[in-house]
Amino acid sequence: MYLVADISVEICAATSCRLCTQFCPEANTILYNNDAGKEKGLKYGSAYVAVDRCKGCAQCVWVCDNMAKHHAIKMIMIDQLPKAALTDNVTYGEKTTTVQLASPVIG
Ligand code: SF4
Ligand code: SF4
Repeated sequence: MYLVADISVEICAATSCRLCTQFCPEANTILYNNDAGKEKGLKYGSAYVAVDRCKGCAQCVWVCDNMAKHHAIKMIMIDQLPKAALTDNVTYGEKTTTVQLASPVIG
């Protein structure tokens, strides 16, 4: 087992910062879902992590904690994730990227 980043929709979707998406060193790993949290009345959408690409470096945690000051990202053992997004489920359109959330990855 190993650690991957997990983003709280409740916290992230209450902001519009998107900062972590600019700092993850792995391409196409922190993605953004404009509709996440809308069912709870949160209006900005949320970043999320494609866990099969996450290398566990925790750079996004540092960015969210210390630059954005939002504390929305925690490192979690991959088998403890409540739900997870996989890049296998990402389809690349001509101008858009869509994703289906798979839940759970394990267990
Ligand atoms: S830095 Fe934090 S609050 Fe900002 S988009 Fe990333 S997870 Fe959300
Ligand atoms: S832990 Fe590292 S690789 Fe994983 S999402 Fe955060 S910045 Fe990207």
